[in-house]
Amino acid sequence: MSSNLTEQTATTTSGADPTSPPPGGVRVAVHNGHCHHFGICQQEAPAVFRLRSDHRLSYDSSPAPEQADRVRQAARVCPMQAITVENA
Ligand code: SF4
Repeated sequence: MSSNLTEQTATTTSGADPTSPPPGGVRVAVHNGHCHHFGICQQEAPAVFRLRSDHRLSYDSSPAPEQADRVRQAARVCPMQAITVENA
């Protein structure tokens, strides 16, 4: 019983804020009015950008740090310059 209590305490106090990206990550935003859903961003960073079957774009606004280079490349090649990338 005491081990359960210890486990619960560790779970609730050990993690970082899940809404904050880890150090070295980036924050991503896509300007809906500029995005024409070409899907080139998805080709560059498929783990971050996904063109859905309803042709809307979904994306991870706080991707893992290892995705940062791919996200920056996606922003560079987006024909509408709709992707904004900032260092987290
Ligand atoms: S490449 Fe640019 S215009 Fe195309 S889907 Fe991605 S954000 Fe939208």
